Amino acid sequence: MIPFILVVEDEDALSTLLQYNLDKEGYDVVVASDGEEALTLASERLPDLIVLDWMLPKVSGIEVCRRLRQRTESRNVPIIMLTARSEESDRIRGLDTGADDYVVKPFAMSELSARIRAVLRRIRPGLAEDRVAIGDLIMDRVAHRVKRQGKEIHLGPTEFRLLDYLMQHPGRVFSREQLLDAVWGSDVYVEARTVDVHIGRLRKALNRDDVLSDPIRTVRSAGYSLDMDS
Ligand code: CA
Repeated sequence: MIPFILVVEDEDALSTLLQYNLDKEGYDVVVASDGEEALTLASERLPDLIVLDWMLPKVSGIEVCRRLRQRTESRNVPIIMLTARSEESDRIRGLDTGADDYVVKPFAMSELSARIRAVLRRIRPGLAEDRVAIGDLIMDRVAHRVKRQGKEIHLGPTEFRLLDYLMQHPGRVFSREQLLDAVWGSDVYVEARTVDVHIGRLRKALNRDDVLSDPIRTVRSAGYSLDMDS
């Protein structure tokens, strides 16, 4: 299957360049020149990945990202933000809104291509697999078992679902609200700090009471992510 990429960029020269290059790399590419058009196109045909400019006319990139994350069907579509800004707060804001990665302008086409390949590789296979391995962590979704360094880890049902979700998107930072929606469901009322409680339990189980390194990273004022390399 050829991955379908939606490029959202209002600068004609850049969107033409992106379309030309991604097309040459074998992707199916469609370009939107503003946020409104992007949302329409994404609802007509769900992209496998979106390259989204931060500064856009009509609806901003960050707002497009937020709205896509609110829709059930586009909640998990990988999004790479293009940003001219390099401030840390903006990056965190982008990730907090649900972007998977960001590339700072000006960038080399080879850099963006590498990020696209990495994101597609990271996110798409993991969603369909029954058995997922990340670092020294193995999850068997069918048998409902988790092992770390070969030893079984016992998790409650919520901690299991939480880990399952984090393992589907390693390295990606999720806010408490995003985790609530994904793990508890958006129709359930649960306080955001409930997430902290379950993250705490999950952490304790995974670290086997501090014997092993902590794979869950807390990103201040942004949320949590699973980082097996750190
Ligand atoms: Ca722009």
